[in-house]
Amino acid sequence: MPFAIIVHGGAGNIREAQRAPHATGIRQAVTAGYALLARGESALDAAQAAVMILEDLPAFNAGRGSCLTSAGTIEMDAGLMDGRDLRVGAVASITHVANPIAVARLVMERSEHILFAAEGAQAFAQAQGVAAVSTEALLTPARTQEFAHVQQANFAATLAAEQRGAVADTVGAVALDIHGNLAAACSTGGMSWKKPGRVGDSPLPGCGYYADSQAGGCVTTGWGETIARVVLARRAVEALERGLDPQAAAQAALAFLAARTGGWAGLIVLDRHGRVGAAFNSVRMTHAWWDSDMAEPTVVA
Ligand code: ASP
Repeated sequence: MPFAIIVHGGAGNIREAQRAPHATGIRQAVTAGYALLARGESALDAAQAAVMILEDLPAFNAGRGSCLTSAGTIEMDAGLMDGRDLRVGAVASITHVANPIAVARLVMERSEHILFAAEGAQAFAQAQGVAAVSTEALLTPARTQEFAHVQQANFAATLAAEQRGAVADTVGAVALDIHGNLAAACSTGGMSWKKPGRVGDSPLPGCGYYADSQAGGCVTTGWGETIARVVLARRAVEALERGLDPQAAAQAALAFLAARTGGWAGLIVLDRHGRVGAAFNSVRMTHAWWDSDMAEPTVVA
């Protein structure tokens, strides 16, 4: 059976200086996920492992390196989906964990719910034995600097001025394992200068991520308010169900988003045959993929 993984490090106006660390990180993540798949591990484990690597790297807006809210706090969202049985786990506005995606996995496997938010998410994590970390442990000098810069404008003005989102760098992965199962995982600090309590698309199934082993999987990134309105990840998987190939599915879903909401986003798609697609209307979207027919990954940064 073929296996494959596609990973992204965010859609946005990724600055020149950020391109090298992005490329290194995304290569590391896709390689780790691929190695697990090659050993016969599950798509869920591979997608989660790839996302955890990116959460740990300060270059990305997830886990350590998350952006700040307008109140100077960190509130992270994450979600994952198992395409075998459409199970979902997610957390929103979680504040003091290193790896929100690992907590999302625990929500899926050890609770009767799909999504915990804010204090409830933090309390659930701790009840499951996840260590609490301080805001300082998640904060990077680059984010502190960005916060100071954004403080001089307001969120809307920043969005317009930065042209399609310097504010992104969310991370995500979609994997297909040798058993023919698909999984998708997504993790983010959200958008810089978001209001405290704001939740975007990333923890919402169908919006930030979706996986169905009978069709394919998708993870999205970009302006969450517009992504959620068109249920972007599900829309891309629906296009696969209609017979489009992954590249056409990604482009069709993105075109719909742009036409109907004026939003900007990026998405990665993997179908049940291991074929990939990626599309974005931001300046860039760091992404990489590796399937079992390739000798090494392809990295786009
Ligand atoms: N979609 C994320 C959000 O709106 C941000 C991102 O993808 O960079 O929270």
